[in-house]
Amino acid sequence: MPDSCLKCLSCAAEFPHGLYSHGCPKCGEALEVAYRGTQALENAGGAGIWRFAPRLPVPVEFQVSLGEGNTPLVLLPAVSKAAGLPSLYFKNETANPTWSFKDRFHAAGFSAARMLGYGKVVTSTTGNHGVSAAAYAAAAGVKCVVFCHQESSPLQRHMIGLYGALPVVLERQQAMLEVLVRDYGYFPATTMAPLPVANAYGVEGYKTIAYEIWQQLGRVPDHMVCPISAGDALYGPWKGFGELRQMGLTDRVPVMHGAQASGCCPYVKAFRAGDRTVAVEEHPHSIALSIRDETGGRPALQAIYDSGGSALDATEEEIVGALRLLASAGILVEPASATALACALKAGFPADETVVCLLTGSGAKWPETMESIYDRPILENPTLEELAPLL
Ligand SMILES: *Cc1c(COP(=O)(O)O)cnc(C)c1O
Ligand SMILES: [Zn+2]
Repeated sequence: MPDSCLKCLSCAAEFPHGLYSHGCPKCGEALEVAYRGTQALENAGGAGIWRFAPRLPVPVEFQVSLGEGNTPLVLLPAVSKAAGLPSLYFKNETANPTWSFKDRFHAAGFSAARMLGYGKVVTSTTGNHGVSAAAYAAAAGVKCVVFCHQESSPLQRHMIGLYGALPVVLERQQAMLEVLVRDYGYFPATTMAPLPVANAYGVEGYKTIAYEIWQQLGRVPDHMVCPISAGDALYGPWKGFGELRQMGLTDRVPVMHGAQASGCCPYVKAFRAGDRTVAVEEHPHSIALSIRDETGGRPALQAIYDSGGSALDATEEEIVGALRLLASAGILVEPASATALACALKAGFPADETVVCLLTGSGAKWPETMESIYDRPILENPTLEELAPLL
């Protein structure tokens, strides 16, 4: 295990590994894992994200894996053509064990919970986060309670229960979360302040996305587009690219773009105003439930500024259009993930630059959503006469 600690992103104070559910004990800002000394990138023997164990802060005896990560980076010629971008790549995170990139987060997070001596984990979710938490709780042998969003898919609640966790639909989750952490010895899968953003360990799982893209391309891309809510879907890979640069494996890092739905785009508003913090969206609405948090964390906004990037938004129509385009090219994603492509299509990237869109989650876990956007009749027992015109 590498020599590491937790370090405040704002005041740079350092702390030993532990649970800091309300951020930096000195200033309240977010903490991240910082490494001392130099490490190799890879350990060929490791499973899932633990292939990168020399760059992750958990000793081997606590590591949990369901074989997450190592996802394909693909070109989709039909989409490239529609976008006018020959080097438009998709990091297909739907290939993870519970069909979303959250599996990297929980592989790292549940391992850290075990390292810190916790046998119970609680989290709140719009869907993917909770499904993934439940699966990794099962793999880790840890008890798990998941507070589900009112609009989360019933399928996902059943999945959470089948994995052995306790799904609870709950409108005001924050207060109950505090109680379980304070009075019942639960480890929270996300911090509770500043904002419910990823704990520092979950971010370490996400950073492996950057490591893999660098390996798969043989270099870093010019641009990366990430659908964001709390923001860690962008901040995690950004941290990974930064570490590759620190290790001397690349001399440049990508320009990072956050993608949001126009009906809930607090990062876009903050970015346009040049703000340092992300304000609360008063009336969030979008089909892209997984990125519909009303506000987000500062680390992602800072990453956008530091990389010279942007925050972009797409309308509901554009999101559904991008979803259909990806499906027609062979990858079925959920609306949140399609938002990355919807934004890339109108970002105006130069045709000779390399762009990677992060496809965070599968459409398969959202049956009601898929049904609502499928607009053609399904033939049932047609006669040959009815079928023939379609052949
Ligand atoms: C969680 C999630 C996101 C956003 O991740 P943040 O870390 O909250 O920014 C994007 N897409 C999907 C499918 C998700 O589940
Ligand atoms: Zn601090």
